[in-house]
Amino acid sequence: MNEITKNEIIECCIVGTGPAGLSVGLELIKHGKTNLVIVDKNHLIGGLARTEERDGIRFDVGPHRFFTNNKEVNDLWHDLLGKDFIPVNRLTRIYYKGKYFLYPIKATDALLKMGIFESIHAFFSFAATKFKKQEEAKTFEEWITQKFGKKLYTTFFKTYTEKVWGIPCNQIGAEWASQRIKGLDIIEVIKNALSFSNGNGPKTLVEQFDYPKYGSGQMYEKMAELIKNAGGKIITDTKVTRFNKTENKIESIEVEDREGNTYQIKADHYFNSAPLTHFYKLLSPGFGDDIDKAVNSLYYREHITVDLLINGDNLFPDQWIYIHSSDVKMARIANYNNFSKAMVGNQNKSAISVEYFTFQNDDIWKMNDESLINLAVTELEITKLIPKGAFEKGWVVRETESYPTYYLGYKEPYELLQKHLKGISNLTPVGRGGLYKYNNQDHSIYSGMLAARNYLKLTETPYDIWSINIDAEYHESGHRKKTDE
Ligand SMILES: Cc1cc2nc3c(=O)[nH]c(=O)nc-3n(C[C@H](O)[C@H](O)[C@H](O)COP(=O)(O)OP(=O)(O)OC[C@H]3O[C@@H](n4cnc5c(N)ncnc54)[C@H](O)[C@@H]3O)c2cc1C
Repeated sequence: MNEITKNEIIECCIVGTGPAGLSVGLELIKHGKTNLVIVDKNHLIGGLARTEERDGIRFDVGPHRFFTNNKEVNDLWHDLLGKDFIPVNRLTRIYYKGKYFLYPIKATDALLKMGIFESIHAFFSFAATKFKKQEEAKTFEEWITQKFGKKLYTTFFKTYTEKVWGIPCNQIGAEWASQRIKGLDIIEVIKNALSFSNGNGPKTLVEQFDYPKYGSGQMYEKMAELIKNAGGKIITDTKVTRFNKTENKIESIEVEDREGNTYQIKADHYFNSAPLTHFYKLLSPGFGDDIDKAVNSLYYREHITVDLLINGDNLFPDQWIYIHSSDVKMARIANYNNFSKAMVGNQNKSAISVEYFTFQNDDIWKMNDESLINLAVTELEITKLIPKGAFEKGWVVRETESYPTYYLGYKEPYELLQKHLKGISNLTPVGRGGLYKYNNQDHSIYSGMLAARNYLKLTETPYDIWSINIDAEYHESGHRKKTDE
């Protein structure tokens, strides 16, 4: 049931109950602004970071690790969940040619498992990069090859990256590599591997991360609870079907609930975290043919998670495993038992998710749920990650527009659209999809916080929301905040 009365004027309307939208709401209520409504098409709170419960077992939409170098976000996470935000000792590996390599890469482990000939090959291919005059890297392939050498690039980066993005690495812009892998220095990796550490020093983000006891969605359910307790309204199961625009203002939005009831919401200001291209298609009227064309050239990668209930536990010790082998279609496998025991309760079962990255016109997207579950189970059995006959039940979660694609040449249409959106005086795009940024939760949250501060005209504003994450620090570095938990 919609909680908005007819003709009610809302001060702030936020689209999306993901980390970004909720962070706008939380920041607004912290400053006494409670006349706000958050609308989401989903039933569950949390957007891509939500947690779904099936047969008493919890699954995220792909594994969600909480880590950040942003103190404000880190403090917020700890304040929100307290003792329910638990430290997890990280183990993640790459599966490649039947072997498991530690990830982040450890030189000794990689060299041992690659074997003597491949290791020598990797060493010389890396050494060659040091003697070659380097042009500025434009593509993902060039960026990684220049930093690590061709051999390590093909072994540890190429196949997985191409599974994720669905295009060759020489068509992916270097920004993605620099955003995600910046600061990872092979010399540091080797030094680290050779250092004689007694293991008592502070844990790095590589070794430990935090996680909500009941799944990533717990963090956002808590945020939603605080917003509602303060008087903010959250309407789920309701999709925005149109943003009504005049020359340079959003006048209202049209929404439709699950029963097909439609109504309008009028607000002074709008924050949007729905994917940018999706938003533009709902904008009425748009900005004209040139911008329509620009928007049509931007695209996201879709994502399928096959959630599986497996009989028995201790299947493998990793939180997740990257599957680089090209003989299976799956890209990553997560084991939620190794995130938090509470994800499976007292059952002697395992909560496993298998991820596929796809486009909507790919065969895999068109497969029905039963076939996808069969595929995931078969691929897990082939790779011996689950024993034959242990599969009990499966569910499929499909997410459109999950990964904004930084293909070569995306910047021109993107910047054109951005320029026009800046001209809408009462609209602030936020979040991963909303800003078309390959953001993690922390950046999405931060964009929401700063967007609210801009609206409130707090000191130090306005912040440039569009530039959050451009200079983001590499997430595998940095030390954990010391906590008592
Ligand atoms: C597989 C996967 C793994 C990830 N792993 C990690 C990780 O380990 N660590 C990490 O920090 N981050 C991770 N992320 C990223 C993280 O999920 C996102 O950064 C974060 O959820 C983005 O939050 P957001 O609020 O910007 O957007 P979203 O979470 O996408 O929220 C947008 C919301 O808008 C709603 N919406 C869209 N269209 C409409 C409409 N027309 N009407 C109403 N509502 C609408 C959606 O339903 C959604 O709830 C991962 C993401 C994926 C997909």
